[in-house]
Amino acid sequence: MESLLLIRYGEIALKGKNRPFFEKQLFKNIEAALQNLKQPFQVEFHRGRYYVTTTEENLFPALRRLQKVCGIVSISPVSQADLDLDKICRQAARLLAASYQPGMTFKVNTRRANKKFPYPSPEINRLVGAYLLKENPGLKVDVHNPKTLVNIEIREKKTYLYSQVFQGPGGLPVGVTGKGLLLLSGGIDSPVAGWMALKRGVKIEALHFHSPPFTGEGAINKVLDLCQQLAAYGQKITLHLAPFTEIQQEIMSRCPRPLLITLMRRVMFRIADRLAQKRKITVLFTGESLGQVSSQTLENLVAINEVTALPVLRPLIGFDKEEIVEISREINTYPISIRPFEDCCTLFIPRHPATRPTLDQLARAEKKIALEELITRCLENIESRTILSE
Ligand code: ATP
Ligand code: MG
Repeated sequence: MESLLLIRYGEIALKGKNRPFFEKQLFKNIEAALQNLKQPFQVEFHRGRYYVTTTEENLFPALRRLQKVCGIVSISPVSQADLDLDKICRQAARLLAASYQPGMTFKVNTRRANKKFPYPSPEINRLVGAYLLKENPGLKVDVHNPKTLVNIEIREKKTYLYSQVFQGPGGLPVGVTGKGLLLLSGGIDSPVAGWMALKRGVKIEALHFHSPPFTGEGAINKVLDLCQQLAAYGQKITLHLAPFTEIQQEIMSRCPRPLLITLMRRVMFRIADRLAQKRKITVLFTGESLGQVSSQTLENLVAINEVTALPVLRPLIGFDKEEIVEISREINTYPISIRPFEDCCTLFIPRHPATRPTLDQLARAEKKIALEELITRCLENIESRTILSE
């Protein structure tokens, strides 16, 4: 049997003249998200809403995927009836039966887009409501706070009925804002930052620094799995794996220990800057949150920003750890992030990292290593992979 999903967007409605641009991107993203379904589907757009027609078997797999498409605010499985009041009543009764509990309250809410339909909306509410009560005396009407809302939309050719509403991520369709390079560690924060970028319509590529043999396959798999989760929201994530061992060892053996983390971050950002330019990306994203750890003081953020002219966006800057953890649970990155594999930064962490290094101190320390050569070599040895959504 054929099934139908109704998809609503939110913020796109405010876009004025640019609205078609956003609507087209969301259309493409909806099609892309459903691409891997085993059976056929069709997407249609009509007056600010998308309709996905597919098989009954596909309904829930499609729903699950659509719940991760940025820009979608909510989705409802819809049943259909002809433009005939008796048929509408019977279909409404079937819909309500699916969630029936004795004493359940309900309300009928009709939108009559098709003005040729002979009854006005309040009349349809009343007639369908009366039918439902007659069919099922255990029900009660509650117009203010009903347990179940029976929505009826009278359209040109058909009537659509729905009561369940599933949430989407909201935000904007990925691809409308531009491209960003996410510095992705294996931790809790940066995947959440990446998700927030995606949610605002940014297409992201990810850059991860690893230090073989100190960080092993486990660490790489963790980052691949994180990208897989993000890909569900962004369709496809290109991951760049950058070898960092040599750089770390050079800094460790030649520079003052307390500066280690800040120096490492500065090198990471220089590499990110060059890679971004090569990939025609104009903005960097990180998972930093102000004051969360000693490398995230304002002084350290200034020191890190100094090495790149690109804007560095930090979507989590004002978040508490608990708030970040909550999002990471919602987007399923949390269980991956807490897997116990070493990250290249936690490996060599100094006991007393400098919280207020001066730019002068850092520049002096950097003169002790062959910075340019190290950066070039790292860039040459970056390995890139594309992670597709499942
Ligand atoms: P996260 O949970 O994202 O690892 P964190 O709280 O552990 O963050 P840091 O380890 O200080 O903080 O890292 C700060 C930011 O620097 C990260 O959010 C990430 O954007 C970037 N970063 C850290 N380590 C790496 C790495 N190995 N590869 C790429 N980016 C990294
Ligand atoms: Mg970390």
